[in-house]
Amino acid sequence: MSECIFCKIVAGAIPCTKVYEDAHVLVFMDIAPISPGHTLLVPKKHYESVMEMRPEEVAAMFQRVGVLAGAVKAAVQAHGINVLQNNGATAGQVVPHLHIHLIPRWPDDGLGFRWPAKKAAPAVLAEQAEAIRANLKA
Ligand code: AMP
Ligand code: ZN
Repeated sequence: MSECIFCKIVAGAIPCTKVYEDAHVLVFMDIAPISPGHTLLVPKKHYESVMEMRPEEVAAMFQRVGVLAGAVKAAVQAHGINVLQNNGATAGQVVPHLHIHLIPRWPDDGLGFRWPAKKAAPAVLAEQAEAIRANLKA
């Protein structure tokens, strides 16, 4: 048995408050919610980050996200919802099994979101876009 906590949840070795499951994903309530209704969607197969998945696996994982986000938002009568997915400790990932957060939001709920935007010269943006294209794999 993997030491990964979300693999253990997928295997049923430790409990979760399950919302939904299909062949590809398991959806359950976050044990330490950021806001009421905070829900997690995890692929059943262990991946640390979205960058390791094949495109068809990413498609299967995201297929239900829109419907689930709508259901979570309606269930708690939220005003908005963040769909958030952290990759790597530097990006805020604590559990190293890929997961998508569905975080309901209300006005003045005290949660952060706005990041300080910076100016960038068009030439810098063009250079970055070219570097990204160069790293795109089919
Ligand atoms: P992240 O910082 O993106 O890695 O988020 C990990 C999330 O997993 C946090 O919101 C935790 O509260 C949540 N979490 C950790 N362990 C469990 C668990 N056993 N059941 C449900 N949620 C969990
Ligand atoms: Zn895992």
